[in-house]
Amino acid sequence: MSVDGIIVAVDGPAGSGKSSVAREVALRAGLKYVDSGALYRAVTLHTMRTRGKVVEGLDFSSIIDEITLQQRYNDDGTCTTFLNGDDVSEDIRTEQIAANIGIVSDQRVVRDFINNYIRSWAADNSIIIDGRDIGTVVFPDATLKVYLDASVDERTRRRSLEYAEKGKDVDVNSIKSQIILRDTQDEDRQFGALKKANDAHYLDTSNHSREEVVTILCDMINEI
Ligand code: C5P
Repeated sequence: MSVDGIIVAVDGPAGSGKSSVAREVALRAGLKYVDSGALYRAVTLHTMRTRGKVVEGLDFSSIIDEITLQQRYNDDGTCTTFLNGDDVSEDIRTEQIAANIGIVSDQRVVRDFINNYIRSWAADNSIIIDGRDIGTVVFPDATLKVYLDASVDERTRRRSLEYAEKGKDVDVNSIKSQIILRDTQDEDRQFGALKKANDAHYLDTSNHSREEVVTILCDMINEI
């Protein structure tokens, strides 16, 4: 396997295990992990902090003009997200951000802004990147495309566990409603909708452990 100049695109709905799988694969395959969702989260955080509320009709061109994004790839496979130079990796992982992100992600101007960053980072690195539209819009010529899926109940269970491990309050019903809402928002988006690319490998992870999914992806990368 040569990892020079390769792009592994991992798309799928919220809670399908994309990020934890991508982090581990990055580590084992010697790739940099780019977390595209974290960039949408960072723009949402900035909007909430500076505009108070995320509503339709905000001037998102001005908002992105105020923002510089950066991601640092760490030796443990994780990536750290910086908003205007500040590490916001923890601040962006809240239910409030998830509840407000839909309107931000719908904005074409925001999507173009984020995609420009991602493409420039990929020019210098071999990457594994997770998101919603990576294999369809951002990198239609990616070396390998994978679409990870899982049932709503399984995704709710994983997200609840994730929040609980971080010591956050967990209301399983509200997490489930939010996942269902986010699925609809992500699938119905005019630009960059969540969609399996025709040439992506589909994997339902509901009955697979993370380790099994990581092994499947590493095997695919080995065959590149
Ligand atoms: O992956 P994560 O759950 O962190 O993504 C958060 C949100 O960011 C998604 O629900 C979606 O609104 C947006 N997103 C997107 N396109 C991507 C990645 C994330 O619209 N490529």
